[in-house]
Amino acid sequence: MMKPSAVIDLLARPLGVLRLSLTARCNLACRYCCPESIEPPGLLSTRDQLRLIQAACQLGAHTLRLTGGEPLLTDRLWPLLDQLSLARQEVAHPFSRLKDVAITTNGSLLNDEKARRLRDMGVDRITISLDAVDGASIARMAGLRTGPEAGKALIQRVLAGIDAARAAGFNPARGRLKLNAVIQRGQNDDQLIPLARFARTQGLPLRLIEYMDVGNRNGWCRDQVMPASEMIQLLHSNWPLQSLGRQPGGTSGQWIYEDGEGSVATIASITEPFCSDCNRLRITADGQAFTCLFASEGLDLRPWLREDISDSVLAEVMTGLWSRRSDRFSEERGLEQPANHHAEMAYLGG
Ligand code: SAM
Ligand code: SF4
Repeated sequence: MMKPSAVIDLLARPLGVLRLSLTARCNLACRYCCPESIEPPGLLSTRDQLRLIQAACQLGAHTLRLTGGEPLLTDRLWPLLDQLSLARQEVAHPFSRLKDVAITTNGSLLNDEKARRLRDMGVDRITISLDAVDGASIARMAGLRTGPEAGKALIQRVLAGIDAARAAGFNPARGRLKLNAVIQRGQNDDQLIPLARFARTQGLPLRLIEYMDVGNRNGWCRDQVMPASEMIQLLHSNWPLQSLGRQPGGTSGQWIYEDGEGSVATIASITEPFCSDCNRLRITADGQAFTCLFASEGLDLRPWLREDISDSVLAEVMTGLWSRRSDRFSEERGLEQPANHHAEMAYLGG
């Protein structure tokens, strides 16, 4: 087996995580995200996806996160997982280097059958996004036009999805099942404590995400960002917390509750950027490679996915892309409202 050459970028950051978006579409319309209603042209085939994952593994990726849009909305998930899980079992295959295959979902389409399939097909971890536990708030956050009753129904579906994941063996105590919540000031900051209470009673690690200036459609403004430090202060005054810091290459600051009732994490891309050790490559559902979540343009990898182009040439192109990388947008953003055009979050995959 060829040893992975540890490709590093211009700031000496190795590639560690591939975030692969399977679709730009979603069954929800979260206002901070604003997904597409149609797919971009030229969606990758399963074969294309597998070639890209293989190349990323050869460059050093140890983690694959499947995302979207809503990844459970597309049937293209299953053949990919099927082939991935088979190849991962072969010791000599580059996929065997993947220590972690994870999926991020809004949970609303997750049921017993899908959760079991994910587990059987080698998915190691599920992250479920839930921004409120109250019907009216979730309806507003998820862009449901039909109001609080529809919001309550959505929460019930997500709760059923959480139960299904747990029953299928995604054990939150082992970090295999987590909750994500974006906290937007003036929109759902009143849900912070109820969400934390919910996560504590469910034994679910909760990751609180600052509202980010990804995309152009959400009308981002800094006033709507609730800094992670403020979130932690609020939680701390209810349930004292102890900081565990941030793992190198990780996105989140980790905290444990002093009463032993679990943990919480914060993703503070706006107020405490972590560009200095960012190890993530994003590939969209139509094969555009983005080396930064806040980039305006990606590199179209489809020309290198043609039948007549070899896997080693594809790996060379991706090595070149990563070696030229110098992005540190979040550190450079400063206090100004960003002026440049950003790709949309649901297209990029978060
Ligand atoms: N549909 C799936 C979901 O919601 O988990 C996967 C795709 S979604 C784009 C991935 C993550 O990005 C979610 O946790 C979502 O809350 C987060 N996200 C989307 N837009 C965001 C924004 N403007 N700021 C911060 N997080 C955002
Ligand atoms: Fe859909 Fe996820 Fe975007 Fe919400 S955050 S609209 S669930 S892709």
